[in-house]
Amino acid sequence: MTGIDDLPVRDELRGKSPYGAPQLDVAVRLNTNENPYPLPEPLVERIAERVREAARDLNRYPDRDAVQLRTELAGYLTRTGGHRVGVENVWAANGSNEVIQQLLQTFGGPGRTAMGFEPSYSMHALIARGTGTGWIPGPRDEDFTIDPAAAERAVAEHRPDVVFLTTPNNPTGNAMPRETVVALYEAAQAAKPSMVIVDEAYVEFSHGDSLLPLLEGRPNLVVSRTMSKAFGAAGLRLGYLAAHPAVVDAVQLVRLPYHLSAVTQATALAALEHTDTLLAYVERLKAERDRLVTELRAIGYEVTESDANFVQFGRFADSHEAWQKILDRGVLVRDNGVPGRLRVSAGTPAENDAFLDAVRELKKEQS
Ligand code: PMP
Repeated sequence: MTGIDDLPVRDELRGKSPYGAPQLDVAVRLNTNENPYPLPEPLVERIAERVREAARDLNRYPDRDAVQLRTELAGYLTRTGGHRVGVENVWAANGSNEVIQQLLQTFGGPGRTAMGFEPSYSMHALIARGTGTGWIPGPRDEDFTIDPAAAERAVAEHRPDVVFLTTPNNPTGNAMPRETVVALYEAAQAAKPSMVIVDEAYVEFSHGDSLLPLLEGRPNLVVSRTMSKAFGAAGLRLGYLAAHPAVVDAVQLVRLPYHLSAVTQATALAALEHTDTLLAYVERLKAERDRLVTELRAIGYEVTESDANFVQFGRFADSHEAWQKILDRGVLVRDNGVPGRLRVSAGTPAENDAFLDAVRELKKEQS
């Protein structure tokens, strides 16, 4: 039988596996940091209306520059991010994964490198590989925080073209202090002019503020965002970035023409009309996240501080075995490959209760 490696695939893809969070049919799915609340019915109606309108024009290509959508996203960022952002500062694509891919196609690529501080979002390294960008893992401490001095040394030594700073970080959940981001931006510029991408996919769940104000006077800084988490619209596939207008011009050199379908643009615009309702779910999820942290600690687990809609917990002698035992009790969590740890996304109160029951039993069995 012909397999991938029998094909003339690029050398760096040989023997590799694709990104694969299991999509299993389980009652309680808390493994991909989705928002557990279905979209409210008035929003579903509004999406149907807007998509119906867009459908009449599907014989035409969509607005290639998604101007209306970018204007609304800029308005959202300005209202919530503590920094004025205009349409010229914003770019959108199919999920922040595509935003990141476009950034690496623009600022990475063959002969260039990107650095991220691991454990962090595994797609950064995978998208680097897919775009022919070399990947350099940077250090984190035992407690999953970043030691600024060690991180600055790694940047100075490897002089990456792109630096990823994920805050709040996935899968660990902790946020990075603003001063560390500033210090690493400085270090990256001193090593060579390089792009620093702050991945704020989870920032709406954070105890702290967005780093958007840092864009002022820092043309090589990019903040990436998504509607997959706080907006509860992972199925929509809409990510976006805020940066200097020159960055927005630069990514247009690599984007495919008409990459954002008219249906996607219409749906995202409808969701943005309901921002306040959707962000009310964020408050519920933050409360549930805090409850998970407290209860997991009460059961006796070690928990990493979380500013996201998920919680990293452990320790397990064998995290894969623990993952399976939780799954056997009907709850799907995530084994991100961090030794001794698992990650659980904050679900509805009932889902979180089911999860807590499962890990309480597991604790009894294992102690
Ligand atoms: N960044 C981080 C840190 C993430 O965890 C995720 C999703 N798991 C993404 C980006 C990508 O999200 P999306 O492509 O759905 O916008």
